[in-house]
This record gives sequence, structure tokens and C-alpha cells, in this order.
Amino acid sequence: MTFKTLDDISELNGKIALVRVDLNVPVKDGEVTDITRIERVAPTIQELSRKGAKVVLMAHFGRPKGEAVASMSLKPIAQSVEEVLDARIHFAEDCIGEAAKAAIGKLHNGDILLLENTRFHKGEEANDAEFAKDLAANGDLYINDAFSAAHRAHASTEGIAKLLPSYAGRTMQAELTALNSALGDPKHPVGAVVGGAKVSTKIDLLENLVTKIDVLIIGGGMANTFQGALGADMGDSLQEPDMYDKAHAIMNAAKENDCRIVLPADGKVSAEFKAGAAYEVVPMTPATIIPKGKESLDAGDATIANVIAEFEKLNTLIWNGPFGAFEIPPFDGATVAIAKAAAEMTEDGRLVSVAGGGDTVSALNLAGAADSFSYISTAGGAFLEWMEGKPLPGVLALES
Ligand code: AMP
Repeated sequence: MTFKTLDDISELNGKIALVRVDLNVPVKDGEVTDITRIERVAPTIQELSRKGAKVVLMAHFGRPKGEAVASMSLKPIAQSVEEVLDARIHFAEDCIGEAAKAAIGKLHNGDILLLENTRFHKGEEANDAEFAKDLAANGDLYINDAFSAAHRAHASTEGIAKLLPSYAGRTMQAELTALNSALGDPKHPVGAVVGGAKVSTKIDLLENLVTKIDVLIIGGGMANTFQGALGADMGDSLQEPDMYDKAHAIMNAAKENDCRIVLPADGKVSAEFKAGAAYEVVPMTPATIIPKGKESLDAGDATIANVIAEFEKLNTLIWNGPFGAFEIPPFDGATVAIAKAAAEMTEDGRLVSVAGGGDTVSALNLAGAADSFSYISTAGGAFLEWMEGKPLPGVLALES
């Protein structure tokens, strides 16, 4: 796909740039506990400000369901944005109408203003045409830097893009470029690690991947369901027997599309799901029998060696979901070992590695591998929908 970026804007000086950002940050006792999302949008805001634009930020926070809910005001977040950007952030009590107009009217070139939560209006999530028009009336051009909100067709992510000249911000640009290099136009062989708890939450993702990639490496609770479908008795392991047919369908689709599926060769089987629990390593085959009262919580060394050997053959790796119950050592072993291997190969320039979604980022952080990956997406839902091959309305609206 092609989209315009900040490089395509001929003149920014004095222009009112409406920028959709993701400020839906975690807050505890009134304090922002993780500023990652603010840091991600900082480059776009700073560049626009430096180039003399009046920068007007639009964002949502929480789920106020179309009402002005004081606890979901963006006002306290403005302070964190100030700290990260080391710049004054003005604030408007509403994202449309007189309050917005008056606050924007006071801006000088280079100033930055944050508008109140877009979801205080029902028109935001309904993608109401009138509300989108009201938002668009605030400025001259629209920049979307919130990939993480791009899977939703809302007024501030989709509707507005049809009404103003629209561009991808720097973070959106980096995300789309990275994702394209992993699934859009990747260097083959391409492999994916898909782990996590359940097959049922990742059917669309698995079905899409097997048509596009060369090797699908399945781990975690998901692998238990596949092993069970192949005939193993998984004891009390986390699995979904009602997904056995789906697992077979995915294995068949993989075969038809020349995608190999790699399952764990062994499991760390334990009677207890707790830190430091004793376990034994059991080879995993269709004939494996895990006794009742025991469960497979991680993969063992044979699997780790197999997965690393698979990585060696790849040029591109996509990763979603932990390879075991990684929050509870020693069941973090496989996730950490293979994450480290992927990180090392990426650092050596042998692998393009893109990861994202849910617990994946914390698992890779735990392994100390996140910084070495080519790209880590902090977008949860949008990253998964992209992996599922679904069109993202906020991205489509930027297409030129
Ligand atoms: P998901 O949100 O689907 O990516 O699932 C992540 C969760 O799956 C994490 O909390 C892991 O602890 C859990 N998980 C992964 N493998 C296993 C396993 N073999 N047994 C139990 N939980 C697991």
C-alpha cells in the first residue's frame, strides 16, 4: 500500500495539524505508569512543532461510552506528555465546538494543544459523519500516528481522513514499513512463532499465516491442543479438545499451502502450576500420555534446539504469544531461550524479526530480547488483526 508521510507536506509553517495519537496509557492512582505510548508519538509531535505547525492532538482514553466522564479526562495525561516532550502542552476542555476553537485560536506556530477525550462524544465510536466534520473543522490537515487504534473505524481514525489531506505520522510510518517487511513483501523463508493460551482466540491468525509463510512454529497452550488433536493424551494440560477439528483443518491448510508446521518435541510436565515447581521433561509424540493431575507448561531442550535450527533457515520471523507459561519460572525457559536466539540472529543481521500483541512484548522484555528485535509493535488488537490479514480502516483511509 502507499500512503503519504510528513515528507509529502510542502508547507507546515502556520498550518493547524490535527494529529491522532494513542494516549490510552496505563494509569494507577492518578499516575501514568508506562510512558511507552507517549514516547512513541513524540517524534511526530516534535517534528511538526519544529516545522512551525500548530499541533493539535486528538486521542481517546478509556471507555466513557459517549459521555463526559471526569475520571477519563485526558487533562492529567497532558502533564505526562509535557514531561516526555519537555514542552508546554495546552489543553482544550472539548475536542469540538467553541472550546476547541477558542483554544486553537490562541496557538502560536509550534505550540502544542491536547483536545479532550474524543470518546466523550457518541459520534466518535459510531464514526458519525457530522462529528467527523466537526473534528475536521478544527484544522488544515490530518496526521494519524496511532497504529494501535487503526483497527477501529472511528471518526478520529477513519471518518476525518476522508475530509482533510491525510498523512501517516512517523510512528505509523515505521509500523507500516516494519509490518510490510514481515508479511506484505517479506524476504522468504518467512517463519512465525505463535504461542499463547488458546487456539480459539487465534484461528483467523493461524488460517491467514499458513497461506503466507513457510514455517509455522506453534508453542504454549496452543501446541497442547494440536498435540491432543494428533492423539496425545495431554492429561490436565491447558488445551481445547473442541478445537481438535480446527487444529486438523489448520494442519491441512498448511499442507496445501506448503507451510510446514513445527510442534514442540518435548514438554516440561509438572503436577503444580507454581514458581519453582518440580517437573520432568517428556517427549511429545502422538503416543504421549501425560497422567491426570499433570500438565505440560513449557517446552524442553529438544524443542528449543529444533526451533533455533528453524530460525537459522529463516530470513524473516514474526512472533506472537509466549511459548509456555512464561510468567512462572522455570516455565519461562523455552520462551526466553528462543527469544534470545532470535535477538542474536537479528543483531547479526541474519534475521528480520517483528513481534507484537498481548503478552508477547512482556515475554520478550523478560528475555532481554525486545531491544534487539527489528520491530516490536506495542499495538495489541491492531497488530493481531494485521496478522489475521484483516484490513485496518485507519490505515486504509490513509491510502493514496
Ligand atoms: P495469549 O494471551 O493467548 O498470548 O496467552 C498468553 C498466556 O498463555 C500467558 O499468560 C501464558 O502463561 C499462557 N500459557 C502459555 N503456554 C501455557 C501452557 N503450556 N500452560 C498454561 N498456560 C500457558
